[in-house]
Amino acid sequence: MIEVQGLSRRYGEFTAVDGISFQVDQGEIVGFLGPNGAGKTTAIRMITGFLPPSEGQITVAGYDLLAQPVAARRQIGYLPETVSLYGEMRVREYLVYRARLQGMGRMDARRAIGEALERCLLDEVEEQIIGTLSKGFRQRVGLATAILHQPRVLVLDEPTVGLDPKQIVAIRQLIRELGAERTLLLSTHILPEVELLCNRVLIIDRGKIVDQGTPDGLRERWRGNPTLRLDLKGEPAEAEQRLLGLNGVIQVRRLDRPTGEGAPEASRFSLECEVGRDLREEVFRLCVEQGWVLLGLSEDKASLEEIFVRLTAHESAQEATEDGRPQPLEPGPLESEPLEEAS
Ligand code: ATP
Repeated sequence: MIEVQGLSRRYGEFTAVDGISFQVDQGEIVGFLGPNGAGKTTAIRMITGFLPPSEGQITVAGYDLLAQPVAARRQIGYLPETVSLYGEMRVREYLVYRARLQGMGRMDARRAIGEALERCLLDEVEEQIIGTLSKGFRQRVGLATAILHQPRVLVLDEPTVGLDPKQIVAIRQLIRELGAERTLLLSTHILPEVELLCNRVLIIDRGKIVDQGTPDGLRERWRGNPTLRLDLKGEPAEAEQRLLGLNGVIQVRRLDRPTGEGAPEASRFSLECEVGRDLREEVFRLCVEQGWVLLGLSEDKASLEEIFVRLTAHESAQEATEDGRPQPLEPGPLESEPLEEAS
């Protein structure tokens, strides 16, 4: 649905986007993930037709954006990083204005506005002055504007930036619903957002795509050797040596204690194991044998955050081992799991 080939943008001598190529298939929600200044907004502005590329090709729903800009842009709904709305207008009035700008007839506009208001849960505030709305609701008006002409592709640039946690949950829910019916490209630097919303991730850094895949696929590729995380009560003597003595354990690292309310006094270890080995049973048996109280034992999946940090650390992508496999990731003291959202 979106095809990008060799896309670049230079500002004078500086290359903000450097020959990126990717495609987004129909029905996918793809996350464009990168640190500040990576080139996300520049790429998105080119893909939505707001910024001419220095080089490259962009096709949206089969239309070449440079050769057929009107037809291509008709397929795209765009929510920019900073939504500019007319603060003195009422919500419905603003959508009528936007529908007219898009050349919609009266009947089509009425139907499209009704649908957009309903879809973005704006019915209750349709007569409210936009300037008096909360930021979350203004973002909904931005989304309603983006879907007004019923585009097949939605492109959202940092859609939850500046919102409070409750508003973030609500906007993500809305994005998920909108994504169920459309192809969606979403830029963000918020990792949990990617885990929660996206089927696929493109990691962009310094203008280049440094890796891409599903969140699970990226974890699989970058996880290195299987790792177990183990919590033992208290400070069992010689635990590290005994764990290292288990057949199949390559390395044992002591991690910070578990923290948080009610966290027990415990010792935490990370056990790097040989590829293909699941040593949970052996670890359990060793605990029984040694009389250690086992508080927790789990497989330690590399978090997307660790992968992201590693890929954008600016020397990391070359740090693969000689056989080309990525090195295992250093386990953090506490992984940041995706935020659980209350519905
Ligand atoms: P953020 O997450 O902070 O919004 P981003 O990934 O969207 O960052 P861009 O806004 O695309 O990054 O910027 C990429 C690089 O291009 C940055 O170094 C930025 O300073 C530079 N840049 C962007 N616009 C211009 C411009 N008009 N002139 C010169 N440099 C620019």
